[in-house]
Parts: sequence; C-alpha cells; structure tokens
Amino acid sequence: MLYMKGCYDKEFDADVVSEGDGYVVLDRTAFYPEGGGQPTDKGWLNGVVVTKVRKKDGEVRHYVDAPVTGKVHGKIDWVERYPHMRYHTAQHLISAIMLDKYGAETCGNQIHADNARLDFTTDNITEDMQAFVASRFNEIVDQSVPVKIFMTTREEMLGMVDERRRKLFERIPESVQDVRIIEIEGVDKCPCAGTHVANTAEVGHMTITGIMNKGSDKTRLVFELAQGQKV
Ligand SMILES: [Zn+2]
Repeated sequence: MLYMKGCYDKEFDADVVSEGDGYVVLDRTAFYPEGGGQPTDKGWLNGVVVTKVRKKDGEVRHYVDAPVTGKVHGKIDWVERYPHMRYHTAQHLISAIMLDKYGAETCGNQIHADNARLDFTTDNITEDMQAFVASRFNEIVDQSVPVKIFMTTREEMLGMVDERRRKLFERIPESVQDVRIIEIEGVDKCPCAGTHVANTAEVGHMTITGIMNKGSDKTRLVFELAQGQKV
C-alpha cells in the first residue's frame, strides 16, 4: 500500500497477482480502499475503469469493469482523491481543536470531495464555539504547518497520542503492532490509515455549513473548504 508512506502517488506500475469476482489484487498499489470515513479511490488500470477499492481478508481488491491481467499501469482519479486528502487533514484539525478547547471527542466522521461531517460527544456547538473553531482552523492553515506521516509501535503510540484521540483506533485488534501516525506539527497526533496533504496550506480555509443535534450528547458539524494551495 504505497499511500501508507506518501500520499502523492498519482500513477504507479504493478503486477496483477490474483483475480476474484470482478476484482484484481496487485503486488503494490497506490489506490486507497474505502475506510475510516474516507471514500474509495477510483481510477484506471491500463485504461480500464476502477469503480471501487475494498480491503478484505488482508488484500486490496480493485473492482474493474473489464478484465485486467499481467503488468498494469495504475492511475488514480486525482480530481476526487486530492479533495479527500484535504478534507481528511481538515477533519483531524477540527477534531484536535474541539478536543483541546472544549474537551469534545470525535465519535464519527464522513468525508466527501466537497464537504465533510464530524460527530462530537457534546450536546451543543454554540455560535461562539463555531466562530472559535473556524478562526483557529484558518489561522493554522495560514501558518502553513507541516503534516507528517510516520510509523511507530502500538506501545509508543500509547505514550504519544492523547487517549481521547485514539478511541476509534482502539477498535483495531491488539495483534496490530505497527501503527501509522498523522502529525500536524505542534497541533495534533492521531493514529490513522487515511491519505493526507503534506502541509495545512493545501487544506484551505474552512466554513461551517451546518450544526445538527443528533440526540443526547452528540452534535454533528458539517463543513466545506475553500480552495487551498494546489499540488
Ligand atoms: Zn484520519
């Protein structure tokens, strides 16, 4: 999974190692399989359309609408993937701000290419809170803060990540010992397998477009991003 190290591979070469019902498995891939609130990548293998990518039974399955064999050249649909990266980093940033300032934990999230939502364990997100979150967020974007990706052990992760920023991670079996951390320098560290931009300047400014009460002690925040620096 090439995207685990760097998230900017738009094209790559690989070999088909196995086939299943409508899908192929490659020896290496830059395609992100749906997961963690981030949608599947789409794209092409030798020009054949990849409609979705799923991780199952330890393999990454590329669903194709025609047969593909042998050596392949993969190409990611960057028009959707790049916004997913920007929205995913944005989501971590909002989660960190809400936790630091208000003690509100993130209990759900869903990213799209033109908006995203987060659920927080709080019974309200007032207008004052919204104003603070948006202005702090945009300040960090304007500061062009580096976003780093690194691997660590489960044990080291427990020492460096706030316990309330690893709730979603705790669902992953104990047998998983290698943990990938996304660090927004000086702002947040969080275990995550998703794709992210390398600098907050690429994220762009954020506008909160909706606040919804989702029952007791749960509030949903919907936001949209303006165009950031393009890469
Ligand atoms: Zn994440």
